Amino acid sequence: MTTLATASTDDNAGAAYMQDIPAEQPWSRILKRGQTLRIVDSEGQQAVDALLYCSDDPAERYSAQDTLRVQGSAYIELGTRLVSNKGRVMARITADSCGRHDTSAGCCSCESNAVRFGEPTKYQHACRENFILELSKHGLTKRDIVANLNFFMNVPIDPSGNLTVVDGISGPGNYVDITAEMDVLFVISNCPQVNNPCNGFNPTPIRVLIRDPAAL
Ligand SMILES: [Zn+2]
Repeated sequence: MTTLATASTDDNAGAAYMQDIPAEQPWSRILKRGQTLRIVDSEGQQAVDALLYCSDDPAERYSAQDTLRVQGSAYIELGTRLVSNKGRVMARITADSCGRHDTSAGCCSCESNAVRFGEPTKYQHACRENFILELSKHGLTKRDIVANLNFFMNVPIDPSGNLTVVDGISGPGNYVDITAEMDVLFVISNCPQVNNPCNGFNPTPIRVLIRDPAAL
């Protein structure tokens, strides 16, 4: 982990923490209430799968269903409140230079890859395995994985209700800011998928930065 008192470029100025997450790798950190996590799609067209848990009681966790119901929209975008399974706001999208994020299409797994793309893909690394690995650092297991967020993943839903994973619209340097409204465990899988266009068939690194208003 790299912790910087002051990051090096203007874009990173004021960040209390900065970390590049290599392609295909997981990451997690507790985000304190009021802190803002920025996820940067460093090279573009990279899906970032994410889960949130209340750090004091991980039984309270992100709920895709409640988030969509509360905001009355099918996509995650600027202003979206990320709602828990107890109906509380865990975090809010406070900046977004991409404009399109998904919470309907779930995360990739060895099993779903085998069903969708054929048996030989069963042994490719996948988001579910990243989540299992990262959650184990916090005493959580695969039973704790729920329907997740997919930042920068483009899953348009057509008027008839069909949804499809298509080419990402995020370009190099696009970012999304998530401001915590409670202390949350934020878990990321930098998606390794190479069988559909969610990562442009080429998984790449991302960057995370945390800004703490109390430290500014
Ligand atoms: Zn994935």
